[in-house]
Amino acid sequence: MPGVPDCTQILNLSEGTVVDNLKARYDADEIHTYVGSMLVVLNPYKLLPIYDDKHMGTFAGVRLTQASPHVFALAEEAYLALQRDLTSQSIVISGESGAGKTESAKHMVRYISWRARKDPSAPMAKLADALVRENPSLEAFGNASTTRNANSSRFAKFVRLHIGSDGQLARVLVATYLLEKARVTSHVPGDRNFHIFYQLCACVADGAPSADARRKELRLPANAKPDAFTYLRPSAGSKPAGAAPVAAGGALELEATVSVLGAAGIAAYQSSGVLRIICAVLQLGNVAFGPAAGGSESSAPADARSLDAPQALLGMVDIAPLLLERRLTVAGMHEQLVIALTPAQCAGARDALARSLYELVFIWIVRAINRGLGGADATDGRATSELPFIGMLDVFGFEDFETNGFEQLCINFTNERLQQFLVERIFKAEARLYVEEGVPQPGATSGAQFVDNAGCVDMIGGAPSGIFRLLDSQCISPQATDAKFVASVNETHLPSVFLRPPTRRDGKAALRDDVFKIRHYAGDVVYSRMGFVGKNSDALDSHVAKALSATTDAFLKELLALGKERDDGAAKPTAKGRAATGGRGAASGGSGSLSRRFAAELESLINTLSAGGAHFCRCIAPSGQGGIAAKPKAFDRPAVVTQLKADGTFDAIRLMKSGYPVRVPFASLHTKFLPLLKDVSPEVAGLSATQFAELLAAVVGVRQEDAMLGSTRIFLRGSAAVAFDELRARP
Ligand code: ATP
Ligand code: MG
Repeated sequence: MPGVPDCTQILNLSEGTVVDNLKARYDADEIHTYVGSMLVVLNPYKLLPIYDDKHMGTFAGVRLTQASPHVFALAEEAYLALQRDLTSQSIVISGESGAGKTESAKHMVRYISWRARKDPSAPMAKLADALVRENPSLEAFGNASTTRNANSSRFAKFVRLHIGSDGQLARVLVATYLLEKARVTSHVPGDRNFHIFYQLCACVADGAPSADARRKELRLPANAKPDAFTYLRPSAGSKPAGAAPVAAGGALELEATVSVLGAAGIAAYQSSGVLRIICAVLQLGNVAFGPAAGGSESSAPADARSLDAPQALLGMVDIAPLLLERRLTVAGMHEQLVIALTPAQCAGARDALARSLYELVFIWIVRAINRGLGGADATDGRATSELPFIGMLDVFGFEDFETNGFEQLCINFTNERLQQFLVERIFKAEARLYVEEGVPQPGATSGAQFVDNAGCVDMIGGAPSGIFRLLDSQCISPQATDAKFVASVNETHLPSVFLRPPTRRDGKAALRDDVFKIRHYAGDVVYSRMGFVGKNSDALDSHVAKALSATTDAFLKELLALGKERDDGAAKPTAKGRAATGGRGAASGGSGSLSRRFAAELESLINTLSAGGAHFCRCIAPSGQGGIAAKPKAFDRPAVVTQLKADGTFDAIRLMKSGYPVRVPFASLHTKFLPLLKDVSPEVAGLSATQFAELLAAVVGVRQEDAMLGSTRIFLRGSAAVAFDELRARP
C-alpha cells in the first residue's frame, strides 16, 4: 500500500511530506488518511466500492487506532466512545464547497444507523430509513447547483442521532443554520437558485395530466421555463455563463419531493401550501416597478396584472401596499407613518418579502421533518434530548471570494470558532494519547505555540465593540448605511494588529468606508460594504407580517406564526427557551438582527460540541476546482495545501510537532526494519516488537530524550525520526 495510513507515522514530518503522502495514497484510490486522530478525506469524484455493508462489517467494534482510515472508522470511534463514556459525541466535518462534506456525512449517518440496531426490522431501522429518505426533500429546498458543486448545500446542518441505553437509534434531530436566503433573489452567473424552483418549472413543462392540475393550482403559465422568471436568471444583467449542470429538476423529482414530505407526516394541504408559497416567491420576482402615473413621488407595478398570481397564491386580496410603501410606528404617536417607496425601494421590499417567505418555508420543513423523525412535537432541532447522541456537523468551510460580504463574515466567523474548538480538542486528544500510552506528556506542548485566534473571534463576535455589535448599532439608527458601518469597523479596529490598511481587490486605495480587512487564521479576507445593513435586518417587517395575517391561506398563517415565534424567541428569552437553546435566548433587544441570532446560535452549538467528545473529518477537493470541472485523479498541490491550511490540519500537525510528532507502532517498525538488517543474530530475530524498537533506536543513535516507548508505539521527536529514515535510505 502506498504511503502511510497515518501522517504522524511519516518519519520526516512536514507540510510537504504530508501532502506527498496524501497524493501517493490518492493515486492508489486510498482517499482516507489519518493525521493522528483526525481523518482527512480526498474527494475521489467517482464511485468507489468502499461503502457497502460488507465494508461496514469490518469496522464494527474496532478502535480508530486499529482500523484502516475510513469515514466508517471515525463513525465507529464515535459510537464506541458514546457507549463507553455515555456522553454525546460530535463529528465535525469541514472543507470547502465540493470537497465531499455532505457525502461523507451521509456515509457516516448510514453507518451509525446500520450499527445502532440489532435487528434490521426493528422500529429504529424505520427511523434510519426515514432519515436517509428525507434527505432529498431538505436538499431540494436547501441545495443549489453552483460552479463548484452541482448539489451544493447552502445551509449548515447538525444531525443528531440519539442512542438509547440498548445501543439502538432512538431519535433523530436535524438542526439547520444560516440558510443562504440571498440566493432566492439573486445568484451569480454559473450558479443556480435552489433546486425546488427548477423542479417546479420542469413539472409544468412535462405536460402530463397530473402536471396540468398542478400547474393550474400553482397558477403557473403553460410552458413556463426557468428563463421566464427573474429570480431564476443570473443577477445584474449578466448573461448566463456556462449554465450550471442540472443536478436536480424534472417533474418526477418534484413528485418525489412531495411524496417524501407526505411520508414525513406532512398533510396534503401543507405540502401544497409549501409549493404555493414557493410559487408565490417565484412570481413575486416578476413584479417590476416604475414611477406611478401623475408624476407623484410614489411608485406602481410596471404591469398591474403581475400582482395577480402572487396575490392569489398568498391568499391575499391586495399585496400592493406591502410592496409600494413602508409603514413606521413612531414612538409616542398613535398613527403610523406611511412612506411611499421609490421603484428601487419597492424592488428591495419585494425581494425581502420573497426571501423571508422562502426561509420560513425552509424552517417549517425542517420542523416537519423532525416531527416525522419520531418527535411528538415539531422542533427546530436545537432542543436537547436526555439521550446521548452522535452529532454530525456539516458546515461550509472558510470562504474568500472576489467580493466578500455579510454571508462570508458569518461563515468565516463560524470557522474561526470551530478552529478554536479543534485546537483545544487536538490538544486534549494529544494529552489523552500520551496517557493511554503511559508516557509523560512533554511540557513543551503548549497552546501558545500555534495560532491563537481568540483575538480574531473577539474582534468579530465580542462585546461591546465586536464587528457584529457595530453592525447592530448601525442597524438601529434610522439612517443606517453600509458605508457608515464599514467606517465604524475601521475606526474601532484599525489600530488592532488584526486589521491592515485596506486595499481593494483591483489594487486601488480603498476608502475607509469602502472595505475592511480581517486577518483570519486561514488568511486575510477583504470584506466590502455591500449589503451588510440590509442582510442583518432579518425579520419579516412587522407591518408586513401583520398585513399578511389577513391571508385566507391556512398554511401561510402557520408560517407567520412560526416567524413570530422565532423573532419573539430571539428577543425575549423565556426560562424554557434559554434552557433549550443553551443561552441563545439570552440575546436581547436584537430582535430581527441576523448576526445576533446567528452568533448566539453558534455559541450554543459550540457549547453542545464542548459538552461531549469530538472527532474531526477534513474533506479536501484535490482537483482544487468544484465538482463539475473536477476529474478523478487530478491533484492540484497548491490547492490542497491551501485547504489543509484553512481546515486546521497543518495547525494540528504543528501542535503535534511541538511534542513527539512521530508515533510508529512497534509492529510496523519491526516489519519494516528487520529485513533491512544484515546478519541478524538469533537473539535479535527473537526480540519482541517492543524490544526491537528499543534496540533499533539505540542502533541509529537516537538520544534518550528524543524518544519514548509507549505501550504500543514509539514516540519520536522529528529529528530522531529522521535517523530511522536514513537507515532505510542506506544502500
Ligand atoms: P458544499 O459545501 O458545496 O455543500 P460538499 O463538501 O458538501 O460541498 P458534496 O456535495 O459532499 O460536497 O460532494 C460534491 C460532489 O463530489 C458529490 O456530488 C459527488 O459527486 C462527489 N463526491 C464527494 N464525496 C464523494 C465520495 N466519497 N465518493 C464519490 N463521490 C464523491
Ligand atoms: Mg454539502
